[in-house]
Amino acid sequence: MPERATIDRVTIDRARLAQLHGRELASFRAARPRSAALAERARAHLPGGVPMCWMVKWPGEFPVFVEQAAGAHFTCVDGIDHIDLCLGDTGAMMGHSPAPTVEAVTAQLARGITTMLPTEDAIAVSTGLSERFGLPYWQFTLTATDANRHAIRYARHLTGRPTIVVHNHCYHGSVDETFATLDDAGRTANRRNSIGPPVDTSETTRVVEFNDVDGLEKALAEGDVAAILVEPALTNIGIVLPDDGYNEAVRELATKHGVLLINDETHTICAGPGGITRRDNLHPDLLVIGKSIGGGVPCGTFGFTQDVADRITRSVELEDIDVGGIGGTLAGNGLSMAAMRATLEHVMTQGAFDGMIPLADAWADGVQAGIDAAGAPWHVTRLGARAEYNFAPEPPRNGQEAHAADDFELQQYLHLYALNRGILLTPFHNMALMSPATTRADVTAHTAMFDECVRELFSQP
Ligand code: PMP
Repeated sequence: MPERATIDRVTIDRARLAQLHGRELASFRAARPRSAALAERARAHLPGGVPMCWMVKWPGEFPVFVEQAAGAHFTCVDGIDHIDLCLGDTGAMMGHSPAPTVEAVTAQLARGITTMLPTEDAIAVSTGLSERFGLPYWQFTLTATDANRHAIRYARHLTGRPTIVVHNHCYHGSVDETFATLDDAGRTANRRNSIGPPVDTSETTRVVEFNDVDGLEKALAEGDVAAILVEPALTNIGIVLPDDGYNEAVRELATKHGVLLINDETHTICAGPGGITRRDNLHPDLLVIGKSIGGGVPCGTFGFTQDVADRITRSVELEDIDVGGIGGTLAGNGLSMAAMRATLEHVMTQGAFDGMIPLADAWADGVQAGIDAAGAPWHVTRLGARAEYNFAPEPPRNGQEAHAADDFELQQYLHLYALNRGILLTPFHNMALMSPATTRADVTAHTAMFDECVRELFSQP
């Protein structure tokens, strides 16, 4: 085996990788005739045979069709049981169909799904969110994307400024202003392959690297910034953790420059019941979360301070409020409120995290042991109930470093290898998420699978 220091992504023999991938594709096909047949039928009216375009990016030549999901497992139409470490990319972080959520949603289904009027659950949900995140006021949407859009609109409205600051290689849903990255010259530019941007993002957005306090100060100094939209740790380019004091410095700079700080906790809720915001005692002006808090039922929400609430009250005309750009007919519907109330009160508890976080640590320890045994120049990053490996020897400090370690071909192979052994990882990066229903046995199965996979990959043929 070559010296550890000499192995990097280019030293993985690509011809051998292609051969191993071919072997895995053949077993994938052989084991999944019913998914293959459904995928073929689906192509008649679903482009690529999938209900949403990004689903073509799953490993394998066709997606696995799900028969049923429960807890931390799902069974596909070919009868194969899978350990689900993707959990709907956080949508099912609390496990598939948690019993209290199912019970509440089932009852609400019979009592009316949507009326455009509030139900009492809205009071319980907003009270619970206030206690959890420390922000007094809440409004509801159907997705985290919409919650981010609304938070941005309010920020522009309240500050009278046009520009939004985001981190390089962030992801906050399909929010136009956030589809920007830094180009090679360090300028804000449209993200690669951004589809139909309404305007060039350099007109709406300024991008800074994560953990770059000086860069942020410079971006704010022009005085035209309405909001900084951040994940308090990046999660979508792999996990990038904040340096000590980084999030506090972001807060200070936002205050100094009169900019509203929006914490998007949609994924970082994996850090605990109040996300990183509560864990690290952060003080955003607005906070966005979606996906997990409805136990998988579509929902999103944004919370804000007394000051933001007062400024909104003073500046929004009642007569135009329905067509002012903050909206959604189904927003705040009875069904999603019932789902959120049950999930927040009975499922997404401190007790649940007390079980999930040690499991993520055990998963990360297992992966690290596999990496060490194979001499792979990779590392593992941890964030509460999620952990992730990355194809670089050291943890990245910003989006650019994380992006540079990306290796799509290798990732597709590793994900397919896992899938063929009944383990689903989160697509587009190498993330595993633990739910309250995930077990030690699930984690051990992943450790054994990963160990075999990387040993074979890094052994001399
Ligand atoms: N914020 C973050 C941090 C996300 O990762 C995502 C989606 N992965 C969203 C917002 C948007 O969520 P949705 O696609 O459910 O609107």
